[in-house]
Amino acid sequence: MNAKEILTRLKEGNQRYVMGKLERPHQNMERISESSVGQNPYAIILSCSDSRVIPELIFDTGLGDLFVIRVAGNIANTSSIASIEYAVANLGASLIVVMGHQSCGAVTAAVEGGDLSKNLNHLVNHIKPAISKAKNPKCIDEVIHLNAVETKNTMIQNSSIIAEGVNLKSLDIVPAYYSLETGIVDWLQ
Ligand SMILES: [Zn+2]
Repeated sequence: MNAKEILTRLKEGNQRYVMGKLERPHQNMERISESSVGQNPYAIILSCSDSRVIPELIFDTGLGDLFVIRVAGNIANTSSIASIEYAVANLGASLIVVMGHQSCGAVTAAVEGGDLSKNLNHLVNHIKPAISKAKNPKCIDEVIHLNAVETKNTMIQNSSIIAEGVNLKSLDIVPAYYSLETGIVDWLQ
């Protein structure tokens, strides 16, 4: 599957999720056994750790389908980029989705500012570029949208593996926004 076909598959899975028509593919003993010898996920998802944002459910997928990195604020730091690089270089995934979500606590903390202790400060620092690009830097929802787009740019800037894939068109990166209220994923580019 190329990136466009993968995106269509994710959109169809999200539609089933929203309609309450989950197929729950690849969630049986056969798949457990078959996937034990190796993995071949078709998409990489960078999403938030928020307990309500679960990519495998949101896209109605199963074992071995998605390579998921979850970190508060779906930031592209060294560790998350390294995880993505592994999947791009070794597992052949050709689509990365950076998925922000409604009412993100990490983005809210970044917008509110102040000293949050060493580790949280590191995390919110990765969200600051989105705040500085916002028309209204106090609008959390605007910053959440921009953060997904900025995270895409950051991972291209900070990873030669990802940048090369994008340049050669063997890899596509799509920012997205998940609505907690509707379950719908909006595609931002
Ligand atoms: Zn969040």
